[in-house]
Amino acid sequence: MLKAFKYRLYPDDSQARLLRQHAGCCRYVFNMGLEYRRKAYRRRGESRGYGDTVRLLNIMKKEKPWLREAYSQSLQSALRNLDTAYVNFFRDPGHFGYPNFKRKTSVQSIQYPQNCKVDFQEQKLHVPKIGWVPCIFHRRFEGRMKTVTISIEPSGEFHVSILVENEDETPVVIQQSVKDESDVLGIDMGVKALCTCSDGTVFENNRYLAKSEKRLRREQRRLSRKKKGSANRNRQRIKVAKINKKIANQRKDAVEKATAEIAGKSHAAVAVENLNVKGMVKNHHLAKSVSDASMSAFLTRLETKCRNKGKTFVKVDRWFPSSQTCSVCGHVNKGIRDLKIREWVCPRCHTRHERDNNASINIAREGYRLIARLPMDGGEVTPVEKTALQQDNQGPAVTDFAEAGRVLEREATCL
Ligand SMILES: [Zn+2]
Repeated sequence: MLKAFKYRLYPDDSQARLLRQHAGCCRYVFNMGLEYRRKAYRRRGESRGYGDTVRLLNIMKKEKPWLREAYSQSLQSALRNLDTAYVNFFRDPGHFGYPNFKRKTSVQSIQYPQNCKVDFQEQKLHVPKIGWVPCIFHRRFEGRMKTVTISIEPSGEFHVSILVENEDETPVVIQQSVKDESDVLGIDMGVKALCTCSDGTVFENNRYLAKSEKRLRREQRRLSRKKKGSANRNRQRIKVAKINKKIANQRKDAVEKATAEIAGKSHAAVAVENLNVKGMVKNHHLAKSVSDASMSAFLTRLETKCRNKGKTFVKVDRWFPSSQTCSVCGHVNKGIRDLKIREWVCPRCHTRHERDNNASINIAREGYRLIARLPMDGGEVTPVEKTALQQDNQGPAVTDFAEAGRVLEREATCL
């Protein structure tokens, strides 16, 4: 089984300089390969593969001897990654997007497919063409080292991620059975809170996140006032990068804690809304809160953790009117599309609803219906309303619940 371990790396000044330089070579090679493949396609409609880019690299090495200073296998890895980016794009263009050029200002990385060594005793990592680099191995691993990736954050921190293969069999997961609706936990992804569960639990974002964000806005304003290319500006840029890193860590912390707790609950199944995160980020009003809650990261982590525990994980269609349906009598109240409405009273049965909790109960119910393959309840959502809701959410053209059932079936076979 493959597992990744991440550690902080502490190169000395000359090692850091070399690592940056080699990362720069990898970025150059990646971008060069991308440019070559793009041009070949645009000018002649031809597609170029990994092998073609490697041949190009060998020519480039003669023209630009500085490329030879970097570890040659790392340069090939960069081209391999480019190829993977293309393969992913052609397989699922909606999810992956066309490969982009790598920027000098984002995270830089170097990959070593082999020939790295670890010394847990002396707390150091041997890197080809660099030598022994001090590293804090806060936990040991056993097994064969596969790919080693060193990354350089814009904040100046160095990290190493080591992929390890060991003899351990993937643990056998016993599938939990879903007997009735109470076995399904519904999750409503929040705008204010991280998420709300149908059992009433609310997970908040990291308590200090708002504070860091305030600091970020202040330091970003300062950055924009500094003169381009000045030493002051560079110092300020590092400061901003450090705060960004901290915010990312704080978000990750909240996501890991919440997903672990949800996966640890006794429910045999978890139902979530199949949010089109990309579509939501484009909507400016929601943009901030969406990225705050790190929804897509949250859903991915939750799915993995649930499956590892043998829970069924279902995604309910996103145009399903979870916030607008009364979880007691089923009445659809279209008047509450506005996200500002946090509480409402059902005009039919007069139940007082807290928006997110009501939504999560509906998601649990719809999740159960999908798992049990029950028919849709009679007549609450008319075809006209359904179309209206679809347009409202700019959702994909899913026309009926039968389609959702088929999607679910496909997903279930992947389990
Ligand atoms: Zn009602």
